Amino acid sequence: MVLGTGVRQVSAAAEPTTVSLVGSTGSIGTQAVDVVTAEVGRYRVVALGAASSVGRLAEQARRLRPERVAIVDTSRAAELQELVPSGTEVLAGEGALEAISTAAEVVVNGVVGFAGLPVTLAALRAGRRLALANKESLIAGGPVVQAARATPGAEIIPVDSEHCAVHQCLRSVLGEIGMAALPHLPASPLRRVVLTASGGPFRGRGRPELAEVTVADALAHPTWSMGPKITIDSSTLMNKGLEVIEAHELFGVGYDDIDVVVHPQSVVHSMIETTDGATIAQLSMPDMRLPIGYALAYPARISTAFGAIDWSSLGRLDFEAPDREAFPCLGLAYRAGRSGGTAPACMNGANEVAVDAFLGGRIRWVDIPEVIAAALDDYVPIEPATVTDVLDADRSGRELAVAAVGRLAGAGR
Ligand code: MG
Repeated sequence: MVLGTGVRQVSAAAEPTTVSLVGSTGSIGTQAVDVVTAEVGRYRVVALGAASSVGRLAEQARRLRPERVAIVDTSRAAELQELVPSGTEVLAGEGALEAISTAAEVVVNGVVGFAGLPVTLAALRAGRRLALANKESLIAGGPVVQAARATPGAEIIPVDSEHCAVHQCLRSVLGEIGMAALPHLPASPLRRVVLTASGGPFRGRGRPELAEVTVADALAHPTWSMGPKITIDSSTLMNKGLEVIEAHELFGVGYDDIDVVVHPQSVVHSMIETTDGATIAQLSMPDMRLPIGYALAYPARISTAFGAIDWSSLGRLDFEAPDREAFPCLGLAYRAGRSGGTAPACMNGANEVAVDAFLGGRIRWVDIPEVIAAALDDYVPIEPATVTDVLDADRSGRELAVAAVGRLAGAGR
C-alpha cells in the first residue's frame, strides 16, 4: 500500500515482490536475473522482455517461468512461442515492452538508449516502482518523465551505480520521507553532489594521442563490464555527462552543485558534501548487482553481498580532476543540461548516432564530440509538453548528427 507521501509500507508477509524485467537479455537484465535468483523466495519475475534475442529470452523464460514474455521483433515471435513453456503468453511488436511495464510491483528498465522512454513512462504512469538503468529516458524525457513520476505510488530508484550511491548518501541526510519528495529537494544541508568517473580506457591520454584510437581500444573498459553503447560513452566521458543530467533530474540538484571527479578504481561510487564540509560516500566493489538489488529491495536491503570490500587487499584510492579538453563530451552535457528543455534530448539523439558511426568505422573517436557539438549548435530547444515534443527533439538531434557524420566522413579522414 502507499502512505500519504508515497512511502511504501513494507509487508511483513513472505509474499514475493513481483518484478518485470524489461531488457532482460542485456547486461543489466542478466545481472538482475542473478540477483532475483540469489534472493530465493523474495522476488517473482512475472514478465520478461527483449528486443530480439530469442534464444536467451526463451532460456530465461524456462528458468524463471514468467506469465508473459515480450519481444519487439515480430518476425521472431513464432519462434519464441515454440521455445517458451506452454501457457506463457508471448507479446510481440513495438508496444510489447511497454505492455509488460505495468504489471509488476517493480519494473526494471534495462533497455539500451532512447528506446527505453516508453517503458519508463508506462511504469511511472501505472504508479509502479521503476528500477531505472536506462538513463537516456530520464535525460531526454526530462519534464515529461517528471510529470509521470508525480503519479501516486510511482517512484524511481536509480540503478546507475553513481546515482544509487547518491541515493544512499542523500537518504542519510533526508530520510525516506525526504527521498519520496524528490525531485523537489527539501531544505537540507546538502552543498553539492560529487559524481565519480572511472575515466574510462583513455584516462591520462591527451588530445593528440586520442586521434587514432580504435573501436577495440574504446571497448576495453578497465573496471566495469557493460554493453557496447555505454562502454563507448564511458570512453568519451559522455556517460558521465549524461549522468550529470541524470543527477539533476533525479535529485533536483542544480548544475552548479554537481561536480565530477575521476576515480580510476571505481570503488567510491559517488558522494555528497554537506554545508559543514563533511563528505558522505558509498563504497563497494564495482558490481552492478548491488545497485540492482538496492532498487529491488528499497527501503530494505537484499541479503546477498555482491559488492563487499576486502579492505586488506583494496590498496589505494585515487582521485583527480577530469581533463575537459581531451574529453569535451562532459562539457557538452553540462551545456545541454543548462540549456534545458529539449536540449538534452537533442544531445542524446546526436550522441547515439555518433557512437553508432564510430562503432561502424565511419568516424574517428575524436569526431564523436564534434558531431554532438554540431547538432547542439544548430538546434533551438523548446520546453517539451508531450512525448511527441521529446521524440521530435530526438529526431532533430539524430538528423543534425547524421549530417555532421556525412561531412566528417566526406572529409576523407
Ligand atoms: Mg554509471
